[in-house]
Amino acid sequence: MPRIRSHALLSLLSFVALAISLPAQQRAEEAEGETRSRASSSPLRLPGVRPDITIFTPLELPTPNALRTASGAPGPEYWQQEAHYRIDVALDPATREVSGRERITYVNHSPDALDYLWLGLEQNLLRADSLGTLIGAQRGVGGESIPSEGVVLGHVRVGDVDARYAVYDTQLRIELAQPLAPKGGQVELDLAWRFRVPEKVFRRYGTIDTKKGTVWEIAQWFPAMCVYDDVHGWNTWPYLGTGEFYTNFGNYEVAITVPRDHLVVATGVLQNEAEVYTPTQLERLSRAKRSAETIVIRGADEVGEASTRPSGDGPLTWRFQAESVRTFAWASSPAFILDAAGLDDCLIQSAYYAEAGRFWPQSTQMLRKAIQGYNERWFRYPYPAATNVAGVEGGMEYPMIIFCRGGNERGLFGVTTHEIGHNWFPMIVNTDERRHAWMDEGFNTFINIYSEAEYFGEEAKLESAEEARLYAIKSLVPIATPADRLDMMQLGLLQYQKTGLGLQILREYVLGKERFDFAFRTYIRRWAWKSPRPADFFRTMEDASGADLAWFWRGWFLENATLDQAVEDVTQASDRRGARLRFANRSRMVLPLEFTVTYADGTSETRKMPVESWFRSDRLDVRLDKKVAVQSVEIDAAGKLPDVDRKNNTWKRDE
Ligand SMILES: [Zn+2]
Repeated sequence: MPRIRSHALLSLLSFVALAISLPAQQRAEEAEGETRSRASSSPLRLPGVRPDITIFTPLELPTPNALRTASGAPGPEYWQQEAHYRIDVALDPATREVSGRERITYVNHSPDALDYLWLGLEQNLLRADSLGTLIGAQRGVGGESIPSEGVVLGHVRVGDVDARYAVYDTQLRIELAQPLAPKGGQVELDLAWRFRVPEKVFRRYGTIDTKKGTVWEIAQWFPAMCVYDDVHGWNTWPYLGTGEFYTNFGNYEVAITVPRDHLVVATGVLQNEAEVYTPTQLERLSRAKRSAETIVIRGADEVGEASTRPSGDGPLTWRFQAESVRTFAWASSPAFILDAAGLDDCLIQSAYYAEAGRFWPQSTQMLRKAIQGYNERWFRYPYPAATNVAGVEGGMEYPMIIFCRGGNERGLFGVTTHEIGHNWFPMIVNTDERRHAWMDEGFNTFINIYSEAEYFGEEAKLESAEEARLYAIKSLVPIATPADRLDMMQLGLLQYQKTGLGLQILREYVLGKERFDFAFRTYIRRWAWKSPRPADFFRTMEDASGADLAWFWRGWFLENATLDQAVEDVTQASDRRGARLRFANRSRMVLPLEFTVTYADGTSETRKMPVESWFRSDRLDVRLDKKVAVQSVEIDAAGKLPDVDRKNNTWKRDE
């Protein structure tokens, strides 16, 4: 999903602030006051929580086993299911119908025999009676949507035999006549289906009409296996609209039949270039694959010319193959301008339309630079293609293909680097996004910060501590909340920004860059093409950094603890030999304490006390040896931390 920009969030915040009724606000302030007075007598404990649990108490994580080890790495018996797809799909622009037939090879690597299989029918979200429609989940983004009949199933077969099945909302259960054997049992499914693409924009896919024709962006479009895993068994949380996806890795062979005047881009590598491009385009494409510079495959002035499509009658079929991906998406249009460049063995492309915006001709280089940066900083992009598509969708990620919109340079790069960044989280490190959206959006937001800084030649700035501070005051829910249970403001602030800021604070304020980067790269490497849980992330980060971070995970991710560091008092010895500074931690969250002391002689020094300084007490005394009077003391002078009350961060000597 697109990253929600800071200014939009700030205006949302002021809106929400106005909307909070006064009594509620008073109650919140009173509750906050109570927290403070209790905190000063009972160090770092939260009222209402077991008194033996402080912020530093080790977390009660799931018991390690041979699948998920105590170090946070996958264990020797780690398993996951495979789902391979062969799909023939046709798009009929006149009826707006997408119809397909697919054969799924499902491999059960689990130790359990399976009596039935669950698949997702995501298009059913659009039905008037869907759970998502009823709870209004699809309001609030991307404009309105009109109900459709959802997925119309043709045949549903196991092998060659019609199967018994049931559809509940966005979930399809297929009963198996014979249980699917554990540890390698395979079953072939054969399904036919169709759905109608709604006229109005819908989340993550849809159409836009341009001067040279309609752009079709097609996603969440085929019946797909739900995940059966070691943590939850079948993952059957319905698709409600906000919570994204958790899918199996597999290989895809997809044949897409569209009108002859369309160009098609998709997840995977095009297998039949010679059948769908002209000789001129083939020559340009082959040059592009070896070129760092962008080569135009079909220019703006060529769109609509019959000579830019292979001669002949009737529709054309585009064949794509993709390996080890977690889903498949595609786009098709007669209006596409297409350009490309190469990066090592990877084909970087952009497909856009003339009025998409004047920065789209730079999109391929934006995509190329973003991928290059992520390769160098975190983990090498493993796929042979990456395509950026301009269409109705403002920002959505799929393996090897992203849907973006952006008018100015910063906007287009921002959304491009964000959506392609999702190829690391969750396309390679396969997150259960429906339960743990922060491990996808937040980790991605974090890596985007350095990507944007590099592209625009700027210093990487901390995500706004001010927003996290405001949010900490106003929210009662922690980051560790499933996406569908959050409103859009909460989603943006918690799953994207607060998580991104948290990793930045961990990297730049707590652990240091080298120590953090080693641990974060270890996490990505360990869990590439596997599915980590929050505990696996917490454990790996501690295991690889060598730091006890229970306090950070608890305060920042699992609870909604607020930070309030204060300077309480400065006692100057009468002979002006040294001074004692008294600090306090007045709320639940703890972080290292950084303060700047300015002396009467005009000199100053900045010191940092480790977070462990708060182990025994929420008071902290620091002695200064310098024999000069202290003029002032300021905590976090640079304003990096989300301190909820900055007024008590400063002490000044009365003259
Ligand atoms: Zn996103």
